[in-house]
Amino acid sequence: MERLEGCKGCTDSVKVSPEKLERLIAIAMKGREAVSDQEYNDRMDTCLSCPALQYGTTCRYCGCLVAVRARLQDSGCPFPLASRWS
Ligand code: SF4
Repeated sequence: MERLEGCKGCTDSVKVSPEKLERLIAIAMKGREAVSDQEYNDRMDTCLSCPALQYGTTCRYCGCLVAVRARLQDSGCPFPLASRWS
């Protein structure tokens, strides 16, 4: 599957600094369970090699920043037909 890059309309909004990403994770985590660091790293490794990852940050199927989505216990991978997260 071809990786799509360079959308003029939203590229700036999906490229976030590490500081902003940490703030977004903190906001998303309020009242929700986090996965372990090991599970988070496993999910991120999968996302970073997934053909659905766009701009190095965003899942094309849900539009989420994967670094945020992967932290949430009640979150899942929306890859069609089967989750790519183990
Ligand atoms: S959440 Fe799933 S479909 Fe989206 S980038 Fe990660 S592994 Fe790929």
